Amino acid sequence: MRLLLTTSQGIEYLTKAEVENLLSQLGAQFRVEEKPLGVEGRVLAEVGEAFYTDEKGRKRELSVATYLNERSRLLHRVIVEIASERFEGISEEESESALKRIKDFVASLPVEKYIKVSESFAVRSFRKGEHKITSVDIAKTVGKAIFDRLSRYGTPKVNLDHPAVIFRAELVGEVFFLGIDTTGDSSLHKRPWRVYDHPAHLKASIASALIELAEPDGGPFIDPFCGSGTIPIELALGGYGGKIIGLEKYRKHLHGAEMNALAAGVYDRIEFILGDATKLSEYVESVDFAVSNLPYGLKIGRKSMIPRLYREFFAELAKVLEKRGVFITTEKRAIEKAIGENGFKIVHRRLIGHGGLMVHTYVVE
Ligand code: SAM
Repeated sequence: MRLLLTTSQGIEYLTKAEVENLLSQLGAQFRVEEKPLGVEGRVLAEVGEAFYTDEKGRKRELSVATYLNERSRLLHRVIVEIASERFEGISEEESESALKRIKDFVASLPVEKYIKVSESFAVRSFRKGEHKITSVDIAKTVGKAIFDRLSRYGTPKVNLDHPAVIFRAELVGEVFFLGIDTTGDSSLHKRPWRVYDHPAHLKASIASALIELAEPDGGPFIDPFCGSGTIPIELALGGYGGKIIGLEKYRKHLHGAEMNALAAGVYDRIEFILGDATKLSEYVESVDFAVSNLPYGLKIGRKSMIPRLYREFFAELAKVLEKRGVFITTEKRAIEKAIGENGFKIVHRRLIGHGGLMVHTYVVE
């Protein structure tokens, strides 16, 4: 089986490592590839059959897709691939002929192997890049091609709101892809524990990736701008044994973080502090790891405040940080200046896609 796995742009290599680690625990043959056909934010896993032993000692086949949906912290979707194809030149093509290419391709695929005609279906689509067609055009065209093909075997049922089977059709640049979305309509990065919705919260998958980049080894860990608590909660959910602290200036968000931690079942694992990160050393004497999604001044506060905020925060961080810090922000100049002025060294940097922006991520020591 070939599984097309989606995640955020820029964390594909961490996702590949996570998926390899999870699959290696199944005893199945597998191969994992980053950015298949050059598509960013995608990882392909080819996996052989996997089995488990049930309570009566019988050998049963394990659904690898379900296993990944349940265990991964970095994935957004787990899609069973039906087919992938490169459509050379589709970006410039007029809509009629582009949609005909897609329709003819889908019509040739044995979709009946993936759905019973008695099951209802819907097509969800995604499009990225320059095209003369929209994602709605793609969904309609693919839906019609699937409907026509299934009509050979009975009367297909479409249910756009609550389908039993979701087909996912994607056109990214020139690469077209069709599969069965085993994740459902809600992406895995939308965690069920999020009962408080912070206006600038970080995707939980990215929070987990930042934690991976920090390589915390059990020493004290802080998120000094913790907002709704995404980073500390993801760390605690991963079973971290060390001290975890979340600091936040505004009571409303801190309370929200506490509610989220309670919903996640990790409230006892995190020390939440109401406080100002520019006075960090007043709350903590020393921490080994600091990981944070810094304020950008876009959704909260003013952009003009950012250089001073970063300067004051990194000056305080220099007093308490023992090992490694990981920070994500859109404010490249301000953060690089603050890092440099306070004696930190950038040991790794990368761009990560978040909320339609490519955001700068730094690992500092
Ligand atoms: N990662 C968080 C989440 O997923 O909910 C969002 C963090 S948000 C980008 C930045 C947070 O920093 C906001 O909640 C804001 O209230 C907080 N903040 C701003 N200035 C602060 C300061 N001086 N000290 C501590 N927190 C501050």
